[in-house]
Amino acid sequence: MPEISKPYRILVAAFGHEANRLNPRLADEELFVLERGQDILRAPAGVLKGLTETLVKAGVTIEPVFSASGGAGGLVDHHFYLRMREELLDAVRRIKPDAIGLELHGAMGTTETPDAEGDLLQALRRLVGPTVPIGVGLDLHGHITPRMLDNSDICIACKENPHSDFVECGQKVAELLIEQLEGRLRPVTISARVPMILPGAGETGSGPLAEIHAKAREYAAMHSSIKDISIYNVFRFTDDDEIGQVVTILSNGPSADTPSIAVDLATRFWIERERFKDDLLTVDEVFELVRSSPDKRPFVIGDMGDRTAAGAPGDGTILLSAALDGYLGLRGAVPITDPVAAARAIEAGVGAAVTLSVGAGFTPGFTPRLVTGLVEYVSDGNFIVEGPVGNGAPSAMGPTAVLRVDRRIQVLLTTKPADTTDPAAFTSQNVVLGDLDFIVAKSGFHFVLNFAGLATPVLVNTPGVGYYRKHQFEFRKAHFWPEHDIASPEITARQHSA
Ligand SMILES: [Zn+2]
Repeated sequence: MPEISKPYRILVAAFGHEANRLNPRLADEELFVLERGQDILRAPAGVLKGLTETLVKAGVTIEPVFSASGGAGGLVDHHFYLRMREELLDAVRRIKPDAIGLELHGAMGTTETPDAEGDLLQALRRLVGPTVPIGVGLDLHGHITPRMLDNSDICIACKENPHSDFVECGQKVAELLIEQLEGRLRPVTISARVPMILPGAGETGSGPLAEIHAKAREYAAMHSSIKDISIYNVFRFTDDDEIGQVVTILSNGPSADTPSIAVDLATRFWIERERFKDDLLTVDEVFELVRSSPDKRPFVIGDMGDRTAAGAPGDGTILLSAALDGYLGLRGAVPITDPVAAARAIEAGVGAAVTLSVGAGFTPGFTPRLVTGLVEYVSDGNFIVEGPVGNGAPSAMGPTAVLRVDRRIQVLLTTKPADTTDPAAFTSQNVVLGDLDFIVAKSGFHFVLNFAGLATPVLVNTPGVGYYRKHQFEFRKAHFWPEHDIASPEITARQHSA
């Protein structure tokens, strides 16, 4: 725990959203979980939890402003973004803090800019000047721009995907902020970027990413001036200049070694690029697996194309239709975002039989499905995340109805794109996981951790805007491998001045 010599006041806020520009549903205030003032300290989660708890333990006075969490979804309504930015700037003007600590995502695009975090940090820096430290904890799926790094002192990411270490990331931001305030840290950040995305193999615990992270830890252990190495795997649905894998190194004072280390780590991505591939099953292969492996049930099926966890709308019906038409007898739970169908089912009430067209309200090219079923449960759709990823965070599916179709499939009709990476999304709606053969989660990574011990994870190759496929989506600004032919990128180090 860092010692403090003065009674510091640090302003804290969280503003997070992962913006998938291919999702036509705008992320406006209604889709955010928003808390203000002291409320954000009642039961904080993730980076905010690590940040605030560490500051309090050190004896720092916290000035909480707001926590606005949009999860993942479409582009953020720029007017909403501007209102939140102004609220934050107003708080800074009023409070005049000694430092600012933020939880941001790193891939919050709005309808006007793909780099909202850069805009926000620049506005804060212009207001407070160069002497007030600004510390930020991010998701490693950020689109990290020079503007973000130039306008913050401490800008670091979590290190694990699935993200089991957000709290540790927040703790580190707090510790580094205190060290800087005390004059024991003079943060200097170096970055190196390689113009490529990861078409697959995005987990940090295995494959090439595990090797690159191990090398980063080795470098950090060898150089005492290195305080953090963050490795960003850019969110694949951002369209901006200079997207890519970014390595940042934060050192105490300038270091002669960090530029070459950053370039070496970034170059490893390029060398290993062909290994970043996923092994996905087809829809039929997945259901055959469920049918032929009773001892492994229930399965939890990661619906890669329609991942709400990657900002897709969550309105896909392919898995529902496959289960209803082709795999008679299998019992399962399938979430579908459909505000209209959810409202109709809620209006009909528990016990009513309804026939509804469900799904496909947002994603271009999706097909709705007509279903008849019994309304089994209705609720406001609020729950608290119980698994390690996002533990303790409030999650809002909006008004939700559970419709039992064919007496064996429970369709969760949600108003908002539900975060179904966590079992509580289902159990909070009276769904009993142990009674099922399969559960559909609109997630590619985090559900594996949050369903551990409860269900066998498997990934399915489904269409939709939640999974990158070469040449399927239009990129106007971004130039990257494998979308574009890049022979041999020049990878250089860049120093950022806060
Ligand atoms: Zn992430």
